Amino acid sequence: TSSIFAAVEMAPRDPILGLNEAFQADTRAEKVNLGVGVYYDDNGKIPLLAAVRAAEEARLQAAPPRGYQPIEGAQMYNKAVQGLLFGPQSALVEAGRAVTFEALGGTGALKVGADFLFRIDPKAQVLISNPSWENHRALFEAAGFDVGTYPYYDAQTRGVDFPAMLDGLRAADAGTIVVLHACCHNPTGADLDATQWAQVVEVIRERGLVAFIDMAYQGFADGIEPDAVALRLFAESGLEFFVASSFSKSFSLYGERVGALTIVTENKETSARVLSQVKRVVRTNYSNPPTHGGAIVAAVLTDAGLRKQWEDELAGMRDRIRLMRSALVEKIAAAGANQDFSFVVRQRGMFSFTGLSVDQVERLKQEFGIYAVSSGRICLAALNSGNIDYVANAIAQVVKG
Ligand code: PLP
Repeated sequence: TSSIFAAVEMAPRDPILGLNEAFQADTRAEKVNLGVGVYYDDNGKIPLLAAVRAAEEARLQAAPPRGYQPIEGAQMYNKAVQGLLFGPQSALVEAGRAVTFEALGGTGALKVGADFLFRIDPKAQVLISNPSWENHRALFEAAGFDVGTYPYYDAQTRGVDFPAMLDGLRAADAGTIVVLHACCHNPTGADLDATQWAQVVEVIRERGLVAFIDMAYQGFADGIEPDAVALRLFAESGLEFFVASSFSKSFSLYGERVGALTIVTENKETSARVLSQVKRVVRTNYSNPPTHGGAIVAAVLTDAGLRKQWEDELAGMRDRIRLMRSALVEKIAAAGANQDFSFVVRQRGMFSFTGLSVDQVERLKQEFGIYAVSSGRICLAALNSGNIDYVANAIAQVVKG
């Protein structure tokens, strides 16, 4: 054949997208998709937040021209991001130690950070949690790194095996890049507490490791401030570190691709050098970020009224997920399950690692039209008052065997 693509093989299907396709093709009216990674409201819809809508209407009225943004994005946006990460009066921000880039979602932030790190030290090892968001491995491998794991989840306790995690980090070579989930660990829902974070910070310091903190769910566990506890501890430590943050979930702006890469350096002079080099990474990838999503987020965060409205709406999403957690636990028990699911209320964020086996997940699909990831991860935000009884009953049936 003469095709230039003759040697191109079919790539394996993305497991989550494959799940969505199978769900779409399912003709059962009662079907439920718990495999998703987005927040749905009680009507099963992705909300357009009122604060976002108000900011969009104002922007439409103002009709600003669409010139290019600076390579690092809008200053107003980047400042607002730093405020969320480090608090309103941050010593490290005031000292000029933080540089922020408006990025294409949390994923784009991770990729720009990974590409920059690879230019600094291509031989560095990257460690991700076991398990982790599946794109972490693929993304750092695509940047050129060798990716390994550190121990994290303990299926027995359904929590973090913290001693094993610390041992894993202690065994890493100096310069190893450690990807950490700031809160609402995906997929397990198991987070570290403040005391444990302080210990992680110390091991990172002792071993000379590089922390790359992924914060995709700020505000989904306990609130905007408490969910930033890990960042505040890293900020106080004086260490240099990376943060990839995202507004996809917290602003329900998935498709607008709004996130940020923030790099904390030892001082202002280092920040200037880092800024200049990361700009080259961005310039040769997508040149500069799009205007709309970042402008909306910045407008909401910097207007007292809109910000209050957004914080209330975010609290509403957080509370609804919590309500679904406790209701699911109660309803599974009421349906006569021979297994206790109370751990679900201790897990944080959008997901629950249910402990359901591959076979049980398969039965949910075959017998009930309920779709979950084969790892047993379900999205609590896909539950609502219309489907929770059905789902709880189905789970109770499959665990009875
Ligand atoms: N990091 C984690 C842990 C996530 O779960 C996600 C989204 O699912 C992301 C990053 C990426 O978010 P975004 O859609 O903003 O790229």
